[in-house]
Amino acid sequence: MKKLAAGNWKMNGTMAALAEVSALLEAHPDPACEMLLCPPATLIAAMAAQARGTALKVGAQDCHPRPKGAHTGDISVPLLRDAGATHVIVGHSERRTDHGETDALVRAKAEAVVDGGLTAIVCIGETEAERDSGKTLAVIGTQLDGSIPGGATATNLVVAYEPVWAIGTGRTPMPSEIAEVHGFLRGRLRGLIGGEAEKVRILYGGSVKPSNAADIFAIPHVDGALVGGASLKAADFGAIVAAL
Ligand code: 13P
Repeated sequence: MKKLAAGNWKMNGTMAALAEVSALLEAHPDPACEMLLCPPATLIAAMAAQARGTALKVGAQDCHPRPKGAHTGDISVPLLRDAGATHVIVGHSERRTDHGETDALVRAKAEAVVDGGLTAIVCIGETEAERDSGKTLAVIGTQLDGSIPGGATATNLVVAYEPVWAIGTGRTPMPSEIAEVHGFLRGRLRGLIGGEAEKVRILYGGSVKPSNAADIFAIPHVDGALVGGASLKAADFGAIVAAL
């Protein structure tokens, strides 16, 4: 199983930012890992055109659970696939917080992704208060149970562990803490989907940068990274890709 370097551009990037993608592809035409960028929806089609025939895949940051209909402002999985997306991030903590997304809604979205033939990247993670009160494993276990789609396989599901307090803060858990969570998630996945769990990629996300990427990737059951800020610049994301 190849590791996955996934970038989440969040609400950043105009057409001019596609120059970073050209630079990334020039520097890393044949990476050892899989490489994915999830730009804002406005850039998916253009980035997918740019990525055609290269090692780069393009994904979305959210979707609507329904395939079509009267849902002003929303984007469905068939529309994302038509634009060239292969993956969809669902349940990012920023959406859980900003839009009140529950595990049930995240699962509905993940199931829409799977039904639409794409790969769901399901995000889970504890807040700082939850970690400080010793609830990390209970919280992420509940989120995992409630958020992953029915019919999950190693092809249509990626899990991303993103501690909320590590996102955009420059702080990361200790390697032993990441190892504990990823090992726990592997076991929990085994209980949910059986042997297929061994091949499901479990990404770490939260303040991944060139200087800490190699150490994080060396941790057991870390199968790649979901990178925010450091995915916006080709040099930074390229260095993370190279560390995988
Ligand atoms: P940062 O890498 O900027 O901390 O963001 C992580 C993240 O939320 C990726 O989805």
